[in-house]
Amino acid sequence: MLRTNTAAPTWVELKLSNLSFEFRLLAPRIPLEKQQVTSDAGGLRLAIVGGGISGISAAFYASRDSRFSAVRLFESSGRLGGVIETLHKGRYLIERAADNFATLIPDALKLSRDAGLEDMLVAPREHGRQAFVLHHGRVQPIPAGFSLMQPTRVWSVLTTPTLSLRGKARLLGEFFVRARHEQSDESLESFASRRLGREAYENLVEPIVSGIFTADPTTLSMQATMPQFLAMERKSGGLIRGHLAARRADAAAAARKASGARYDQFRAPELGMNAWLEQLAAKLPSGTVSLNSPVAELSLNSPGDRANDNQTSWNLRMSPDKSEDFDAVILATPAAVSSKLLQNVSAEAANFSSTIGYASSAVVAMVVNRSNVRGRLDGFGMIVPAKEQRDALAISFTSNKYSGRTPDEEVLLRVFLGGALRPEVMDRTDAQLEEIACREVREILKWDGRANWMGVIRWPEAMPQYTVGHCDRVAQLHTALRRLPRIAVCGAAYEGVGIPQCVRSGRQAVENVVGTRSVE
Ligand SMILES: Cc1cc2nc3c(=O)[nH]c(=O)nc-3n(C[C@H](O)[C@H](O)[C@H](O)COP(=O)(O)OP(=O)(O)OC[C@H]3O[C@@H](n4cnc5c(N)ncnc54)[C@H](O)[C@@H]3O)c2cc1C
Repeated sequence: MLRTNTAAPTWVELKLSNLSFEFRLLAPRIPLEKQQVTSDAGGLRLAIVGGGISGISAAFYASRDSRFSAVRLFESSGRLGGVIETLHKGRYLIERAADNFATLIPDALKLSRDAGLEDMLVAPREHGRQAFVLHHGRVQPIPAGFSLMQPTRVWSVLTTPTLSLRGKARLLGEFFVRARHEQSDESLESFASRRLGREAYENLVEPIVSGIFTADPTTLSMQATMPQFLAMERKSGGLIRGHLAARRADAAAAARKASGARYDQFRAPELGMNAWLEQLAAKLPSGTVSLNSPVAELSLNSPGDRANDNQTSWNLRMSPDKSEDFDAVILATPAAVSSKLLQNVSAEAANFSSTIGYASSAVVAMVVNRSNVRGRLDGFGMIVPAKEQRDALAISFTSNKYSGRTPDEEVLLRVFLGGALRPEVMDRTDAQLEEIACREVREILKWDGRANWMGVIRWPEAMPQYTVGHCDRVAQLHTALRRLPRIAVCGAAYEGVGIPQCVRSGRQAVENVVGTRSVE
């Protein structure tokens, strides 16, 4: 059974822990109980709260920026990385959460390049670049070129067994559906059903979206999660029209996107996420990171009046007898934590942050012998529509995607359970979750035998839910924060849950605390 706090520390964690040790060696040189950290050499002293990928990115870019004279990163737990973590169990490499990131939004790749770590990254294997969907209890390929919700190949739609004749006609009829020109947000379910028809929504879009966001598409904001398709409807009149327009503009790129080559747009650290995080952390100046340092309270040392900006500073309280002052603060914590920290300084900002809800999920990771699986394993994974009425949201064939995760004769499966639509799963014991996962794999993938290794990874309240109106609420939060001196928020709660968006939000937060320039 796996739990964060009981898993044996890996060499990576031990190395990351050294950073904390290093800081503790330095700390006694500062005699005051309340350490005064103010601008010197003309630069700002910046505190970043939260050592997930968002906070690490902010620390990385700020520490290379001459506008800051000192950068400190406070993390409550004993390791950096937040939800991203690799487990090494004998011959197996298992990612607890993210196992790769997209490069279409280039920020995580850019961070790797900027840190000189691009060589660590590999693309998914060439073999098996496809995914499946469960349809009437059978595992079927997702139509080739069906990109999130955009059909790009007529032939694959006409021949897919996942839609009835009527469903196919309605899906291709998207070409003739009139565009909605209202600027207001709408739910993902509303957009997809309106444009593609109910059947394509239920059989394809709903499971894809539930798999990515572990969310309820009837409440999920289209503007916050898939703005590219909203923009396409407004600009080109629809999704098929948008694809045709893109193909006319750049035939090669559109063809790549529509084919298996889109898997080229993903990268993973060859040796696992921890190895990447460790190298990123090593690029931070010595003494930047303080592990086991939860920030309990945030306050302004003098009123946040714009005219008096130069006199104000932020006080971060870690414990009743330990606090430090800084010129600027970035909160890279989950929304509920940021909301609590903001309560003392802006009720308005705290309220906006508190409106962002989270969904819980669980992942059962299991390694099985390939020879015991009679179902299709020649892909990267499969998704399960809610209408199939099963417990699994998705099953990732994780070791098919990247080499070095298991020996070739075995396969690492990650069974995703729970999410916004199935919260009751979280009430089950680990033994029950293992039993559910085994049943799902047995029935769906025709597996027979015993798992060579199995572990339950729980994610309580870990996936932010971008409900309709999310972008407006986040904009209001940023506006409320701009009324305060040099403070910003970043992280998965606001402008995208994927690693690239988190990296981008960290970089943007660095700009937000000193000015208003948008990152490119
Ligand atoms: C199961 C799962 C699978 C995923 N798969 C993918 C994937 O394949 N690809 C992808 O791109 N994305 C994936 N994601 C999403 C992505 O990994 C996360 O959205 C992202 O890592 C979140 O980073 P973050 O820094 O914003 O937040 P977090 O990782 O939550 O970090 C926040 C940090 O703040 C710390 N903290 C909290 N309170 C305090 C405090 N008071 N003081 C100091 N520190 C504090 C926490 O300990 C934590 O380290 C997945 C997510 C999950 C849950």
